[in-house]
Amino acid sequence: MTSARAVVGQRSGLRRFGKSSTTAPADAATENAIDVQNVVMRYPARDGSEVLALDDLSMHVGPGEFVGIVGPSGCGKSTLLKLVAGIANASGGKLLRAGTEITGPQPDIGFVFQSATLLPWLTVIENTTFPARVLGLPKKPSIERGRELLASVGLSGFEKQYPGELSGGMQQRVAICRALLHEPKLLLMDEPFASIDALTRDRLATELQTILLTHRVPALFVTHSIPEALFLSDRVLVMSARPGRLLAEFTLTAPKPRVLEEAYADPDRIGAEIRSLLSEEHQP
Ligand code: ADP
Repeated sequence: MTSARAVVGQRSGLRRFGKSSTTAPADAATENAIDVQNVVMRYPARDGSEVLALDDLSMHVGPGEFVGIVGPSGCGKSTLLKLVAGIANASGGKLLRAGTEITGPQPDIGFVFQSATLLPWLTVIENTTFPARVLGLPKKPSIERGRELLASVGLSGFEKQYPGELSGGMQQRVAICRALLHEPKLLLMDEPFASIDALTRDRLATELQTILLTHRVPALFVTHSIPEALFLSDRVLVMSARPGRLLAEFTLTAPKPRVLEEAYADPDRIGAEIRSLLSEEHQP
């Protein structure tokens, strides 16, 4: 990738939120803008009670934004992505995409999960082009695009291999290509590098930045890694402990491409601030 040295921080604003606060959506009706309005999510618990996963969560994601989401384990980050994808229904409140309420699965979304979830009996190219099969897209151009995507993450020559023949990092790259195959208008990523060793993880984060800049796809990205969030995001949303709500947001204005080492160095102490907010959440 081209690498220009850039300061990752350059915070243009930290906003802290109390309960029930909402950001003003100036572009709510714009394609891909997402509005989460006072969303509540309850799950039934085994003992007959309920787990309150999200409580009065409100947030706005602009149409072209790459937004990182960090928060304590169990605060409802995955739940939020499922609600945005339309594969789960909120118990209360509303989610809007381009001003229209989300009421079911969104076919123009790409989803990358914690593990690659490839189909072991399909080859790399068959896995990559699987969304085209499901959506009934023409085969030839899909294979073409699949090959191009695989080449962009260094997997040329692996098209005919099976997932079991690849490393975890390679499998996750295939999963990212699969998520991008149908040119999604929004990419949802739920800790996509969680199961990958630290060195490969850094390389993949850098590759992901290149992919996102090349394909210009807005994304919601859940991560436990604060440097990763600083490295990739236009904005980082910090969620409270369960029940999850928005605690603070940090806008990162440094130009891209960025350099991962800068995010680790945290020159503007944004990562330190996020860490401190999160550790406050763990106080009794
Ligand atoms: P995170 O992604 O932040 O770790 P999740 O969204 O996975 O959090 O979960 C939020 C809370 O909801 C957790 O307490 C979890 O145990 C609970 N939860 C998630 N999914 C279900 C489910 N299908 N049934 C019951 N409880 C669930």
